[in-house]
Amino acid sequence: MKTIKQASLLVCICIVFISCRQKQLTFDRISGYAQGSTYNIIFENGKKIDPAELKNKVDKIFHDFDKSLSVYDDSSLISKVNRNEDIVLDTFFLEILKRSNGISAETSGAFDITVGPLVRAWGFGPDAHKNFDVSRLDSIMALIGYEKILVKDGHLIKKNPAMNIDVNAIAQGYSADVLYRYFSSLGLRNFLIEIGGEVRVRGAKNGDGWTIGIDKPEDNNDTPGAKLKAVIKLKDKALATSGSYRKFYIENGVKYSHEIDPKTGYPAKNNLLSVSIIADECSTADGLATACMVMGVEKTKKFIKNHTELEAYLIYSNEKGDYETWATKRLSKNLKENNSD
Ligand code: ADP
Ligand code: MG
Repeated sequence: MKTIKQASLLVCICIVFISCRQKQLTFDRISGYAQGSTYNIIFENGKKIDPAELKNKVDKIFHDFDKSLSVYDDSSLISKVNRNEDIVLDTFFLEILKRSNGISAETSGAFDITVGPLVRAWGFGPDAHKNFDVSRLDSIMALIGYEKILVKDGHLIKKNPAMNIDVNAIAQGYSADVLYRYFSSLGLRNFLIEIGGEVRVRGAKNGDGWTIGIDKPEDNNDTPGAKLKAVIKLKDKALATSGSYRKFYIENGVKYSHEIDPKTGYPAKNNLLSVSIIADECSTADGLATACMVMGVEKTKKFIKNHTELEAYLIYSNEKGDYETWATKRLSKNLKENNSD
């Protein structure tokens, strides 16, 4: 959903091809570009599926997805909705709206897909042009609020036609879920789907889940996997990471990151550098990771403690500017930190 230039992977996949034939399992890999980023899929290919044919199918799904939900495509349904054209929503759109609405309600609006006008004003939208003007803040804030949109007879009804929907905070996670369903429908049982750093896995690579790297949240650590802060073992779950260290700009010494607080209208400003959420579905993990970046460390810890179905790994800076980390107890046995530098 983001431009290729902006593309960044927040986590990298530690693909351990030590032996692809352990336990007679044979794995294939397909990779490509989607949603302004890259994707990697590794799957156990006992059924002799042609990876090239499968890649065509996957690319077609991404194409259909963009035609529905890409704000970078003027002809997509979401662009038409944002221009108030009279269109019927498709399944992708309806599902992502439903999931988004649930996450907004759970996070008291820290996650909100009506942030579009703010995202654009702060220069993180499709035209990447900052035109934030504090004198216009009240009028923009009148356009924000997930409770101001609803679906009726397959149409999205906005309370104010100037409202603008942006699903970028959940799109990669949701499309990982879509592909997960597709791969499962092919009878595949062991696979990893990674889109722009958001991951959903099924089964195992070598009998013991999949190993996922969490990048060190250093500004401009732009090469996924180059500097890892931790590795996490993942089995039959999804993991998504949001951070303030790749998509940001600095103006007059102030850092503006691309997670916007829908309550204040300003980019989230707290000491949280990176949030990784593990959930059953990747859309949930992705949306919540963004919400946590907005909520900050303390609110996130409280939120996660109240949601025992989730696991989380936080990296934040303390007063001295050093890294501190926090993980749910359940995660500790599957987490290995790198504290070497
Ligand atoms: P990444 O995984 O690349 O760090 P996120 O998943 O956190 O990105 O999504 C950030 C994007 O989501 C922003 O570029 C913007 O388009 C949109 N966004 C920003 N703030 C919010 C918010 N509070 N709720 C929902 N979407 C948001
Ligand atoms: Mg997200």
